[in-house]
Amino acid sequence: MWDKIQCVIQTYNQPATKELQQWIAWTKVDWRYSEGGYEIDVAKNRSVMKFLAEDVPRGKEYLLMIANDMVPMPTTFNILTEPGDLIYCQSMGNEGRLDHHGDKNFSAACWRGHAKVLQSFGPPWFRMGHTGDRTSQTYCDCGYFKDRAQEQGYDGRQVGIIGHEQRCILTPHGEDIQKWSMIWPSGWPLGDVFASTQPKTTATQPFVTPAVPTPCPCPKAVAQEPTTPAVVAAQPQIAPCPCPK
Ligand SMILES: [Zn+2]
Repeated sequence: MWDKIQCVIQTYNQPATKELQQWIAWTKVDWRYSEGGYEIDVAKNRSVMKFLAEDVPRGKEYLLMIANDMVPMPTTFNILTEPGDLIYCQSMGNEGRLDHHGDKNFSAACWRGHAKVLQSFGPPWFRMGHTGDRTSQTYCDCGYFKDRAQEQGYDGRQVGIIGHEQRCILTPHGEDIQKWSMIWPSGWPLGDVFASTQPKTTATQPFVTPAVPTPCPCPKAVAQEPTTPAVVAAQPQIAPCPCPK
């Protein structure tokens, strides 16, 4: 199956996270960057089009698409090995929202689809939905793809998780050295860094996270995947170190 997979990292004019670069090199899967300079759904459509036109004729069967700001976790490896025509890894959306999860669902952050799924509909494969006056978004491009694929009889299946690199601001929380608060930039108490003249109407309250154990630097300390998906991106948990301290 390995040599039948073509990976495309959706670049959005930014390089992949260094962890994703390391993972891709380690897996030795064939990969390339997408074209930059397009809107999110257009960029994905162009990647699918190129895969069908150029990679399928030379023997590739699966397109593996990964967003450039993803950080692989141990179960991300399943996206290479699990059987299935349409599989994906669950991830956190912008500012810590859980966007898409579970089976019969789909997320375009990290997914693998067989060529026959992509040949069964489209273009477009991806499309952002907006209200008629285009003042707000009605659905994301993953939702559009999921609905079109389901119409053709293909359900997505979640096979693992993947981390999402996001900028956030940590602050001390009280006197406890193991507690901290996390603030999204949009919830900065003074508003946007380059504040507009309009007052902010909503403020995100900082929230307290559970204590994070200090990672042991010895090589025996093995990173373990947390069982609670909601905390994956923010705080990888470290197994108790077996070495004598
Ligand atoms: Zn989505």
